[in-house]
Amino acid sequence: MIVMKFGGTSLEDEIAIERATQIVSERSCEQSVVVVSALAGVTDALAEMSGLASAGRLQDALGIARTLRRRHLRVLEALVGRDAEATLAAVNSQFDSLEETLRAIQVLGELTPRTADFVLGAGELLSSRIVAAVFEAQGIAAAWLDSRKCIVTDASHTNALPDCDATAKRLAAQLSPLLLAGQVPVMGGFIAATIDGIPTTLGRGGSDLSASIIGAALNAERIEIWTDVEGIMTTDPRMCQQAMPIDVISFDEAAELAYFGAKVLHPATLTPAIRKNIPVHVLNSRNPKADGTCIRIDAPRSRTTFRAIAAKRGMTVVSVRSPRMLGANGFLRGIFETLERHGSPADLVSTSEVSVSIALQASRDLDLLLRELKKLGEVEVEEHKAIVCLVGKDICGRVGIAASIFATIAAAGINVHMISQGASEINVGFVIEDNDVPEAVRQLHRVFFEAASSTHVDVRPLASVARPHWCVDMISVQGEVA
Ligand code: ADP
Ligand code: ASP
Ligand code: MG
Repeated sequence: MIVMKFGGTSLEDEIAIERATQIVSERSCEQSVVVVSALAGVTDALAEMSGLASAGRLQDALGIARTLRRRHLRVLEALVGRDAEATLAAVNSQFDSLEETLRAIQVLGELTPRTADFVLGAGELLSSRIVAAVFEAQGIAAAWLDSRKCIVTDASHTNALPDCDATAKRLAAQLSPLLLAGQVPVMGGFIAATIDGIPTTLGRGGSDLSASIIGAALNAERIEIWTDVEGIMTTDPRMCQQAMPIDVISFDEAAELAYFGAKVLHPATLTPAIRKNIPVHVLNSRNPKADGTCIRIDAPRSRTTFRAIAAKRGMTVVSVRSPRMLGANGFLRGIFETLERHGSPADLVSTSEVSVSIALQASRDLDLLLRELKKLGEVEVEEHKAIVCLVGKDICGRVGIAASIFATIAAAGINVHMISQGASEINVGFVIEDNDVPEAVRQLHRVFFEAASSTHVDVRPLASVARPHWCVDMISVQGEVA
């Protein structure tokens, strides 16, 4: 049993959907479940439409809805033609209901997260129905399955958390008859529902997570994530043309990269797969013969010092300073409890005797958080920051790595605001201006991945060093450091 997920970039138009169909039919000897994202750009368009309707610009929102309707109908007509009656009716009815919802949003003048989910999920409902119809038309025994009846989440709308046990039971009940009948179930990714059936979504990019949840529930042999690049690469190829595909990467390295901004995987994708030790393959739907990347529990040492570089953009650094509390217990606890109450995870933290700096994802609710933090000390906020993160399992106990990173960054004239590396960590992360990210990533990539000497940056294991060298086990720096 395999689970194959096709992202929006692999379903952008008729040609892309035909490619995906070909890939699935070539795997017809394996039992498979197919998970699809919305067609490329559709979820962004849906978000824009609901925003316009709530701002009173209903006609603009309806205009986008009309364009989207035409796009979906064109794909259906091109790939299924006259046999598409039932799917055609379902697609039209989905758009009718979307337009009604947009009118209701305009009347109410507000967009609640629950309504936002209702609108956002339309893209996957449409694409999954169309892809199932195309598969059937091309001779694959496919059956559309409503993911909202299978994937159970809590009610944190727009970023819901899956309930894996409830989901496993529902999936077994819904999928077994289809699989026994030799059909290929086609499900929308990203969409789910609460236990009471209220539609939810798993957060942007969440179809990867859907595939992993389904793979884990079915004890799949592997999960395939089909996208528009040759697998997980040494950095984002859109930022650095020299990025290279990675053959094998460990679960924890890939999870770290996804968390620190590698868009190729939703940050929570690997959690269900790791629990069941199911390998995840990231593959290129435009070049299906290429090996792509295998993410699995163990991976051979990489030739290079690091496995890859990621960047998490749009960060805010909040510093809390409290000389009064010098040495006092509870200062740090107070800060972290406040962050937890506001659901704002600290992505990078650096402390001194009297202050704490925290890099957080910028959010609309920041003001409320700041108001509470001000009760604990003087608060300073710096916006438009980013975390650059170099990930690799083999950096522990090796000398010279931090020096090479920060010499490279300094040579590029880039200022570092915070640095963090833990002793047993598999990454080194630091905060810079958001604008500096492309240059920082390109320079680090050049030094650690492209330079002929990339494997020889002075990072020998301690044991091989004749004279004692210092190996940096923990760095924590605040303020302007380069
Ligand atoms: P999909 O529609 O298939 O879900 P996404 O756009 O979500 O595709 O993810 C694929 C994109 O992720 C790539 O086009 C690439 O620009 C970006 N990306 C960022 N970091 C990496 C990386 N380390 N390796 C590969 N792709 C990356
Ligand atoms: N369509 C959704 C999004 O664009 C989910 C996904 O593609 O994974 O975020
Ligand atoms: Mg994606």
